[in-house]
Amino acid sequence: MPELPEVETVRLALLPAVENRHIIHAYVGRPDLRWPLPENLSKRLAGRIFGVPQRRGKFLLFPLNGQETLLLHLGMSGSIRLHESPPALGKHDHFMLAIAPAGDMAATIFVVFNDPRRFGWIDLFSDEVHPMLARMGPEPLSNMFSDTYLATALANRSGSVKTALLNQKLVAGIGNIYACEALFYAGISPRRKSGSIKGQRAQRLSAAIRDVLKRAIAEGGTSLRDHVQPRGEIGYFSQKLAVYGREGEVCHQCDSRIRAIVQSGRSSFYCSKCQR
Ligand SMILES: [Zn+2]
Repeated sequence: MPELPEVETVRLALLPAVENRHIIHAYVGRPDLRWPLPENLSKRLAGRIFGVPQRRGKFLLFPLNGQETLLLHLGMSGSIRLHESPPALGKHDHFMLAIAPAGDMAATIFVVFNDPRRFGWIDLFSDEVHPMLARMGPEPLSNMFSDTYLATALANRSGSVKTALLNQKLVAGIGNIYACEALFYAGISPRRKSGSIKGQRAQRLSAAIRDVLKRAIAEGGTSLRDHVQPRGEIGYFSQKLAVYGREGEVCHQCDSRIRAIVQSGRSSFYCSKCQR
């Protein structure tokens, strides 16, 4: 499932492709994904011009002229492809934009959103802040996020630190993979109570969160250079993961076996020797 670094990689790849391009045509293949799509979406998008794509948490935001923003969430399995000629759409290609620079139809490209599991979402909104984004916590790579913020946000919570990190109201963009990885690099057990994360532990955890996300974004950039030139599928890249998905394999730091437990319905992977 795409988390902050994957979504950021998609944003960076789309930026040069969409900025200042006009929407020639919008194809909307079904009335809903995870939630209903806006009515008349195709008509409302035709003729609009893209600004610079933004990201908030796991959401992609495309400002358009006319004070509206196109919101895209990749869900569990969403991906984006770019084509230079009209593609044959497959069963799971639910949305496509034909876009071109002003007055240069020959340079039209086709942006296709594919989502087999349909947990993704598309919306078009004119408010300054979308209701889905209004209560979202700080971006972990922004100045709003710090060890002090993290300790304060975790202080009065019951439950485990792992489950808290997945809460988008606490911090934006972290999902199961990077929560597990950050806790490993911070040496903190996923079972530890939220309220016990303060002082040096909060410092280690906030630093580890920033580090794993920055490294993953850098990896994403590398994978883009390696795999999607000149054009093609954007987004997922294989990560060098320390604990996530490695149950029963050897910890790189201590030779113990990585364990998996279920917390709030999600698997947590960790090393019981390195993480306390
Ligand atoms: Zn270990």
